[in-house]
Amino acid sequence: MSIRIIPQQPLEESDKHAADSIPPLLFPRLKNLYLRRATRLRDLAAKNPLGDYLRFAAVIAEAQEIVLYDHPLQMDLHSLLVATAASGKPPLDIHSLPRAAHWQRLLHSLIAEMKPEMSGQALAVLENLEKASSQELEAMASAMFSNDFARVSSDKAPFIWAALSLYWAQMAALIPGKARTEAGNQRQFCPVCGSVPVSSVVHIGSEHDELRYLHCNLCESEWHVAATTCSNCEQTRELHYWSLDSATGVVKAESCSDCGTYLKLLYQEKDPALEPVADDLATLVLDARMEQEGFARSSLNPFLFPGE
Ligand SMILES: [Zn+2]
Ligand SMILES: [Zn+2]
Repeated sequence: MSIRIIPQQPLEESDKHAADSIPPLLFPRLKNLYLRRATRLRDLAAKNPLGDYLRFAAVIAEAQEIVLYDHPLQMDLHSLLVATAASGKPPLDIHSLPRAAHWQRLLHSLIAEMKPEMSGQALAVLENLEKASSQELEAMASAMFSNDFARVSSDKAPFIWAALSLYWAQMAALIPGKARTEAGNQRQFCPVCGSVPVSSVVHIGSEHDELRYLHCNLCESEWHVAATTCSNCEQTRELHYWSLDSATGVVKAESCSDCGTYLKLLYQEKDPALEPVADDLATLVLDARMEQEGFARSSLNPFLFPGE
């Protein structure tokens, strides 16, 4: 199955029956999203061996919350949606959507917000980014969108991504469309922007984990892929579930022996405060274990890039 976004038509017959089925896509709700993420990062930092890094990520998320409201985005996405619905591409395709200067304004505002909170190496990186030319910033953005992470140093990458992600999330929240499910095998990529997930969340009220949504690491949209289906290759035969903390069971890894990858599942019912980016970053021990078992990660955390 794949998920396609089409322009919203008023009073469509199909909408009358849509209420009782599982929505294939949830566009981002940005109100308090970054604040909740920052709070969760700080809560998890208290008992985490990587607490300092979680607090560093919290500073970035707090800056995103402020800059989101300081730089609102107004944009009419209807004609873009009509064009992409015809082409079959995601409407905010990272590989083809032209980037407006807005994202660099977001980046410079983020830097201004973060500088007083950072010291040492992180502060030096911010000062360095502040001086980068517009062309250099565009080159880094293009490299990250084409998975060429070797061309962006790993200490700059989270800051660049934070600005791009905020821009994409603002656009995604404005999409005047709706999603429908179609035949095809594309669910390892976000149907809104074509990026990859950070992790997946099993929503409250899910009896057999059927309400599992993958959370986009760029535009913050969530798309439906029921647990017991590998999100990377759509196979259902060789899935196994791994957990380091079986007592609480908040976070599990779903591994697939068909394609050799894994993705984390976060169970909202076990902890309603969980957050797909924060809880993923706080459970890197589970990633180390999965790598030992020979599985590769099919997702990417926005605060942790492979780097050079
Ligand atoms: Zn996305
Ligand atoms: Zn698979």
